[in-house]
Amino acid sequence: MAGDTVNLALNGAWLLNEGQRSALIKWIKQGFAPIVTKAGKTLSITMPGKLKRPAAAPRSLTLKLNFEKDEKVPARRCGFVLGTCGTGNIYITAHQYMGVCGDKPKIRNTRVLTTDEVLGHALANTGIHELGHYVGGFDDNRISGNFMSTLGPPRSSRTVQSMRAYFAGTMSWTPDQEKELVARIKSGNMAFDEEFTVKSVPAGSR
Ligand SMILES: [Zn+2]
Repeated sequence: MAGDTVNLALNGAWLLNEGQRSALIKWIKQGFAPIVTKAGKTLSITMPGKLKRPAAAPRSLTLKLNFEKDEKVPARRCGFVLGTCGTGNIYITAHQYMGVCGDKPKIRNTRVLTTDEVLGHALANTGIHELGHYVGGFDDNRISGNFMSTLGPPRSSRTVQSMRAYFAGTMSWTPDQEKELVARIKSGNMAFDEEFTVKSVPAGSR
């Protein structure tokens, strides 16, 4: 039974500071709440504490994203892996240390997601991308500005601004994706269960 509430647990959100967390929640809501509303349900976002596991609310559909700190700061700022497609695991440190990684040597290692707002927004974009895999069963695509895109700005024109616009920009669903997500949420049948095949995300993408 699907129930009327969609509970989205943001595990590990306690690792973020208040500004980052509020940006994360704002942008997750922006990208995902309209889908849930169109499915006739209510989105409830929870942030379980360090030790607590979320109690399953009765008559609710539970989705989760796991935000994790990498143990070590990545040695190569260009080899960032932001999440593991399909698992819902999202790596905070990789977002924090993401470099420009373009062809311009002077700014190559300059960090991109340096404010709470852009970091929170980029984490939300990666989280929603994961929900697209899990809920909708979507593949990565090359559609500019789409939640499932792994296109990225071209190497030759990468700057802090273009990288931010890409990774922390406002993204959207295609009408077809939206239709599929609404139908899935409505029925409570996600495209995958939690054990589906783990696929590593290539460098420079999500
Ligand atoms: Zn993906």
